[in-house]
Amino acid sequence: LLDALADQAAVAIERIQLVADVDRARLAAEADRLRSALLTSISHDLKTPLASIMGAAGTLRDYRNALPEDDRAALLATVIDESERLNRFIANLLDMTKIESGAMEPNAAPVDVAEVVGSALRRAAKITAGHRVETGLPEDLPMLRLDPVLFEQVLFNLVDNAAKYAPAGSTIAISARQDDGAVAIEVADEGPGLPPSDLERVFDSFYRVRKGDQVRAGTGLGLSICRGFVEAMGGTIKAGNRQDRMGAVFTIRMPSEARQDRLEPLT
Ligand code: ADP
Repeated sequence: LLDALADQAAVAIERIQLVADVDRARLAAEADRLRSALLTSISHDLKTPLASIMGAAGTLRDYRNALPEDDRAALLATVIDESERLNRFIANLLDMTKIESGAMEPNAAPVDVAEVVGSALRRAAKITAGHRVETGLPEDLPMLRLDPVLFEQVLFNLVDNAAKYAPAGSTIAISARQDDGAVAIEVADEGPGLPPSDLERVFDSFYRVRKGDQVRAGTGLGLSICRGFVEAMGGTIKAGNRQDRMGAVFTIRMPSEARQDRLEPLT
């Protein structure tokens, strides 16, 4: 009986190894595919603004004197806007690298949520100019121990997306509430929302829901950076759709007490 069992075990192990080999090969192929998709996407995101900059700068060099002032100003604006876009993309890539290598070290400090929301909104003022922005921040929210720079970036990315994907004139609502030992902060819009099957995937690097989203000035990195930052600060972030009307809602939860104990030695 023991021999028979040993034989069966040997056969089972062989099978497992076979499956493992196939899996390994499949994973390696998948990793290769992903790597080249990433490179294609990064090259595209770098080349598109660069092409605009080179085009505008070349026209200015060759026809500067023949062009009316308005056209020259428009070409210069293209150079500046597209450089900003490149700059943002490279900053995003660096942030991603930091998150992935574990080098992200949040600087914890007691922060007033209303204050960070205010500074994120001031930074996004130009972007949200065509929208109505509403805030619902109760006065008695506890201070949160988090990195104000990272947190402002997270809020900025979410508001930037809301303004990008929801139609002009619609309302972007930022609210916060105490919720079971945590503070939940929500950014809700009145745009198309997200397909239920994509609620997790939107946090993947370079993932975009709609083909058309590619042409907008996005990098496909905003939400993965949000998740990386929020998790580095001990919180969670999830995407959803609004129940009451059309629109996406992103919810950040930051623990208010537990996290404070854990971060005490850092201060
Ligand atoms: P991007 O730079 O493309 O905006 P993100 O990582 O910020 O990259 O978002 C990933 C994708 O999730 C977007 O391309 C878009 O398809 C979708 N998305 C993000 N925010 C919203 C929103 N508020 N409403 C609808 N779709 C959104």
